[in-house]
Amino acid sequence: MRSCEVLIVGGGPAGSSAAWKLRRAGADVLVLDRERFPRLKLCAGWITPEVVRDLEIDLSAYPHRLLTFPRLRVHFGRWQLPIACVQHSIRRFEFDAWLLERSGAPVEQHNVRHIEADGDGGYVLDGEYRCRYLIGAGGTRCPVYRELFRELNPRAGELQIVTLEHEIQYDWQDSDCHLWFCEGGLPGYSWYVPKEHGWLNVGVGAIAERMKRRGQDIRSHWAHLATQLDRSLAPGAHYEPTGYSYYLRGRVEVVRRDGAFITGDAAGLATRDLGEGIGPAVRSGLLAAEAILAGKHYQLEDVTGLSIGSIARSMLDRIAQAGAFHGRRQRYHGGGGPAHGVRHRDQ
Ligand SMILES: Cc1cc2nc3c(=O)[nH]c(=O)nc-3n(C[C@H](O)[C@H](O)[C@H](O)COP(=O)(O)OP(=O)(O)OC[C@H]3O[C@@H](n4cnc5c(N)ncnc54)[C@H](O)[C@@H]3O)c2cc1C
Repeated sequence: MRSCEVLIVGGGPAGSSAAWKLRRAGADVLVLDRERFPRLKLCAGWITPEVVRDLEIDLSAYPHRLLTFPRLRVHFGRWQLPIACVQHSIRRFEFDAWLLERSGAPVEQHNVRHIEADGDGGYVLDGEYRCRYLIGAGGTRCPVYRELFRELNPRAGELQIVTLEHEIQYDWQDSDCHLWFCEGGLPGYSWYVPKEHGWLNVGVGAIAERMKRRGQDIRSHWAHLATQLDRSLAPGAHYEPTGYSYYLRGRVEVVRRDGAFITGDAAGLATRDLGEGIGPAVRSGLLAAEAILAGKHYQLEDVTGLSIGSIARSMLDRIAQAGAFHGRRQRYHGGGGPAHGVRHRDQ
């Protein structure tokens, strides 16, 4: 049987962040993921400046596609509002594999099915792995959540979000990130997220229960988005969208049981307003690692449940950088540091 001090189930942003922190402190860590990295992860791939800061990422040294947006273009019906704030886009296929490798933790491909307490304060997984601490970072269908936490934290059906998305190679011309809210009564939003060097992610996400109550179907919203994009931002693009569902932040009563923790989507931490889950996954992974290393309480007060706060902070940073509070205008340099391969137009 393979033994380690900390076993992390899932090598996405939650798992790799925990592994990175633990490895830097010299802990004996092993990451198990059912997929071989780089692996496909359905996601728009929009990351906030908080993610960059929390993970101490030097954007100029990031070796893959990264685009910095100096604004978000938010659409409500006929209204279009440019929101000056700094956000970034990455491709999850590249970003997740890079984070996991950077963590320095050994990774094994293994689909975890069964977890039991070993009677000595630790855990045994599938009769093959033994650990003292166990971090559940396996996303929505995390086996650590299912086996140890589900009864204590049942998922709230009204917080389930369904999505359809596709990431394609496309020579986009508009380098801004566009978000459309409530189009055709959609209880959610759709997006156009360009990536560096000719990749584009488009998708629709909405609260499943509300859509059902309104007799709506995510596929018809997708068709509406595709038509709209064909007319304006992405003429001639072809899509084969895929669906995925996850949970927005609700009441998460129990996130630690003895030596076992749940983080990221396993704990249902995506923000209530925009379904942004990478930042909460990273932050919760780091907090779980800190709890193990420093014997601290594991609590999620510092994990934001709303994206609007991050966007507002970034807007204020931009205003400050532009010298608005000093009565003079400064050149804007891209917020979170000199971004690699930035392709946005200058101000
Ligand atoms: C269409 C869509 C668009 C999104 N867009 C954004 C966005 O733009 N920005 C943003 O911040 N968030 C976005 N999100 C949310 C974001 O993708 C998730 O919140 C985030 O990936 C959560 O990270 P995680 O590490 O908790 O889980 P994941 O990234 O899902 O990683 C979990 C890992 O666990 C592994 N695993 C699962 N089960 C097992 C098992 N039994 N054994 C071993 N390994 C297992 C999986 O293979 C996976 O690698 C989006 C989600 C969707 C569906």
